[in-house]
Amino acid sequence: MRIRLTDCSLPDRDSLRRQCALQIEQGLITAVGSREESAAWPPADRQLSLDGCIVLPGLIDAHMHLENWARRHSQPSLDAVASLADLLRLLGREVRQREAAGDLRGLVLGGWNEEVFPERRPPTIRELDEISQRIPIILTRICGHVCVVNSAVLREFDWQHYAAAEPGSVGLDAGGRPNGILSENCMSALLARQEKPGADKQADLLLFGLQSMAAYGLTALASQDTDRLEDVAFLDSLAAIYQAHPALPAYYAQIGLAHPDEIPAFLALQKKYREHPQIRIASVKLFKDGSLGGRTALLREPYSDDPANRGQDLLAGRDLLQWFESANKAGVQLLIHAIGDRAVSEIIAAFQAACHTAADRSNPRRHSIIHCQITDRLLLQKLAATKLLVVSQPLFARSDWTMARARLGSRRRNAAYDYRGILDQGIPQAFSSDSPVESANPLLTLAAALDHPQA
Ligand SMILES: [Zn+2]
Repeated sequence: MRIRLTDCSLPDRDSLRRQCALQIEQGLITAVGSREESAAWPPADRQLSLDGCIVLPGLIDAHMHLENWARRHSQPSLDAVASLADLLRLLGREVRQREAAGDLRGLVLGGWNEEVFPERRPPTIRELDEISQRIPIILTRICGHVCVVNSAVLREFDWQHYAAAEPGSVGLDAGGRPNGILSENCMSALLARQEKPGADKQADLLLFGLQSMAAYGLTALASQDTDRLEDVAFLDSLAAIYQAHPALPAYYAQIGLAHPDEIPAFLALQKKYREHPQIRIASVKLFKDGSLGGRTALLREPYSDDPANRGQDLLAGRDLLQWFESANKAGVQLLIHAIGDRAVSEIIAAFQAACHTAADRSNPRRHSIIHCQITDRLLLQKLAATKLLVVSQPLFARSDWTMARARLGSRRRNAAYDYRGILDQGIPQAFSSDSPVESANPLLTLAAALDHPQA
């Protein structure tokens, strides 16, 4: 089948070439030219005029959370809520509806961002307790690293363990009582205990997500939908979806693992999907630190608005070294979350220490740092020397700009979010939305990359 698209506009460096034609044969573009040039092409089986629309290559989102995106967009979401008062009203309505229906299961809603609230603060445990003493309420922050909960959650959850093992992950008031703010590993453990949607509901969410991503023009997406190897049954649902809808965007799984001992099981999973046309088990996802908004990103210098705090280190240097060594040996790609400058520099050091041969140093596994956000010129130069890749989120610069000045001060903030600097250093860089943290629309990501807020 030979298809010809006419009256297309094609991006050509700094301009648009208008009134072009494209020829497609067996899914491949076999000719591009002006309207005049296309007159000499062989006759097409089908011809379509695009009426001047712009044709872009298929776009890939290099990191997102598909199931979370779909869940966030199929239930009340907090990410468009403009004030704390509105949040409490919305929550009150939702809780009353559930109580009236006799549904006392835990309620998890996500997306609040105190930075856009006129009140400039998260809800408190007391405010959530006033809404419900019976229904456990968990409200996750937009960054996905911090949540606030009511007392009904704390009654059922061993927060004391985390307060002792990972101080900082359980917020305490002046009297040493929990203030309802939980973060990082403590929050992940809490969320892992929540009731999972049944397989049917999960399949519905994945289909809705993939169809939405296709509507955004994505041809593939890399997604982290689990941080446990035991939770990969959703891949079977995905395989069934692709059987019925083979043209949906391809899915590259980024899977969180707890320990390098799990690598053989990861390899077995990779093998299971090796021949699958749309599903690939792409990389192991690790967390070196948390988020800037939640003040858990790992910094070299303290936070400007919290001088006793430098963030949380979620993966010690020696463990990171072991991860790199094991991954190099097994031929597995690591994708490591790092926002703060200390997190980035410790990843660089661990990678260098783990590379024993010139081949390792050329980074054939394409190990990548995701976010790589708080940097300066010197740090990017060091990063460039490692051959590590970066997966960045240009929309974060827009969303974070004002908040980042409070967290970091002007000097550090103005050197950060340096996508141009990453490019200039020759560091391979892929863009991503990290949705539902940001919109999954790739055109917004491209626009944010071109229109960076200025210092
Ligand atoms: Zn993410």
